[in-house]
Amino acid sequence: MSKKEFLDAVATEIIVCTKCPLWKTRKNAVPGEGNSESPVMFIGEAPGQSEDINGKPFVGAAGKFLETLLSEIGLSRNDVFICNIVKCRPPRNREPMPNEIQTCTPYLDRQIKIIKPHFIVTLGNYSTTYIFSKANLAFSGITQTRGKFFQAIILDMQMTIFPTFHPAAALYSAKYKETLQHDFQLLKNKLARRAINM
Ligand code: URA
Ligand code: SF4
Repeated sequence: MSKKEFLDAVATEIIVCTKCPLWKTRKNAVPGEGNSESPVMFIGEAPGQSEDINGKPFVGAAGKFLETLLSEIGLSRNDVFICNIVKCRPPRNREPMPNEIQTCTPYLDRQIKIIKPHFIVTLGNYSTTYIFSKANLAFSGITQTRGKFFQAIILDMQMTIFPTFHPAAALYSAKYKETLQHDFQLLKNKLARRAINM
């Protein structure tokens, strides 16, 4: 089976999942989407209202800005794989709870194992906390950690983790917006130096 077929099989399970209470209030689960062969995976937090309605990740206001950030470094959402640590929308967009993260992240782990990305870009505190714990790296908050490249072993695979702010942060602050644009340029340069063609 191809990576896409394996990912589709995981998505089929997610769409009907009832393992944590979030299934009761969702309209649609949001497994994630994009290029299953991509060397770069973007991981956000949890679906918001637009994502819940559409069943697709990052299609609301934060998603529009993520698309802008990608286009500024010559990429589109079809070049990368985009998903979240939690696959169903928490009610009123509250933060995901520890039991929800714990119950849902085996799906994300399976997606990472299938894609085997060279780079994981974590968007915001929640996904960085999760990926750093997988990598046995100490995490001291997104503000301290963002914009740096971390070599790590995740799920027995060597990869590079690049944390940055969540694109939703840029919707309320020009400073976050500039920092995100700066971090994406760092990512672009790193991909070029590593001769990763996308
Ligand atoms: N915020 C996220 O973290 N993920 C989405 O898919 C949309 C908004
Ligand atoms: Fe299942 Fe994850 Fe949705 Fe909870 S959030 S119901 S674990 S897919």
